Amino acid sequence: MAAAWQDVVRDAAAVREAAAVAVDAALLAGVLMRTGEQPHASDVVNYAPFTLLPSAVPQALFEQAYAVQQDFNLLVDAISQNKEFLEKTLASTIKVDDFTAQLFRIYMQVLEEGLAQTVFLGINRSDYMFDCGLDGTAALRQIEINTIAASFGGLTSRTADVHRLVLKVLGKTEKASRLLPNNPAKGLAWGIAKAWELYGSQSAVVMFLVEEVQRNIFDQRCVENELWNRNIRVIRKRFRDVFEQGSLDASRRLYMNGQEVAVVYYREGYVPQNYDQQNWEARLLLERSRAVKCPDIATQLAGTKKVQQELSRPGTLEKLLPGRPEAIARIRATFAGLYSLDEGEEGDRIAATAIADPDRFVLKPQREGGGNNLYGEELRQVLEKIKDSPERTSYILMDKIKPQPALNYLLRAHSPLQVSECISELGIFGVYVRQGQELVLNRAAGHLLRTKAVEHADGGVAAGVAVLDTPFLV
Ligand code: ADP
Ligand code: MG
Repeated sequence: MAAAWQDVVRDAAAVREAAAVAVDAALLAGVLMRTGEQPHASDVVNYAPFTLLPSAVPQALFEQAYAVQQDFNLLVDAISQNKEFLEKTLASTIKVDDFTAQLFRIYMQVLEEGLAQTVFLGINRSDYMFDCGLDGTAALRQIEINTIAASFGGLTSRTADVHRLVLKVLGKTEKASRLLPNNPAKGLAWGIAKAWELYGSQSAVVMFLVEEVQRNIFDQRCVENELWNRNIRVIRKRFRDVFEQGSLDASRRLYMNGQEVAVVYYREGYVPQNYDQQNWEARLLLERSRAVKCPDIATQLAGTKKVQQELSRPGTLEKLLPGRPEAIARIRATFAGLYSLDEGEEGDRIAATAIADPDRFVLKPQREGGGNNLYGEELRQVLEKIKDSPERTSYILMDKIKPQPALNYLLRAHSPLQVSECISELGIFGVYVRQGQELVLNRAAGHLLRTKAVEHADGGVAAGVAVLDTPFLV
């Protein structure tokens, strides 16, 4: 990948000046986060971390990622409706992973009762890195697909403007004009609005299900405000509020303190720490309701790492998307090597290979939110320890993607300005709405580029490792 800004990254004075402009521009544009010190307050905020310079992204791979997004939407939607596949795929995992098991129990319980929900809304983000081959060419490789609480669509709707200004300050006006417009906040809101409309009750609200600590509230506000612009009422509630104020009527319409809820948009509920007994009860209440859940519990399960690994098995995509060979080819072209650690010969073999050569792989548990994966020596030690126990089935193995690093500056409050070797991860937002069996909306809704220093193997923006970025197509 061409290093686009070689001439400026070493010009300390120009970088300092541009960084000062960049930080103020980010604050002005609303690229904001609450602070770690005062995570509940909006009266002391700071800018969300971002790169000084937009990062080079190969245009062909960028277009490939957009082109496959509708296929991934179809696939996730198909998995979410395929009980047999989910049951079979997650059977080994739920024996050893309590969190997935609890989600699965709710899934089965809701199916047994019969679904009251008839409108389905999916908002996902498919993440990729650019794997650098031996000959130096880059290939698009999917890292994972997030089917619940995929974040930063709001803030990233505002980062291109900041980077455009930075490039101008650095004397690169022509290049500034080439940065693409990007507005996932609008695209996400479009999907939520469509689901709200199909639910069919003018007085019903959209409920954002949010965490106890909401440092990333401004990201969510971007989407909320798009809904208010469409005259759709939005409320923000926690699981705890649902436990205390939520109820269902005879036709399982959901009410919060007497106010009907049309859509529940989860920005919470994807890690075990989000749940205590009350919160699980609240989750069950929501899932049983007629309200449109984004995602419903089946779609959350469709986004597990175990499902991702099973998708890469020969023949699986053909079963899930019959009669769609072109979509399947596009999807499969983005897959990295993925391996099951289920008990048996196949699992034994790949475990032994990974122990012998840990740098080729990433070991992933069934967790979201960053910081859970194991690499290198740690991977080897853990796998050595669990290789003969059923515990190993709570993990999958994946080929490690090795992108070409590029120099950039990561702008973070209270951190020194210093050049870093960086790698980037591209996410494409997908939105779809299904009413009964009819897909009424299916589109790509914008992109997110996140960049981190190479020394960090893992971790997203919320985890304090990656920062927001803008692709500069090359
Ligand atoms: P999470 O659900 O925690 O976000 P991910 O699968 O996205 O889990 O992994 C977290 C991070 O780890 C990614 O953002 C990426 O930086 C790194 N990572 C994950 N898979 C790979 C891989 N196969 N090769 C290299 N890095 C990876
Ligand atoms: Mg991830």
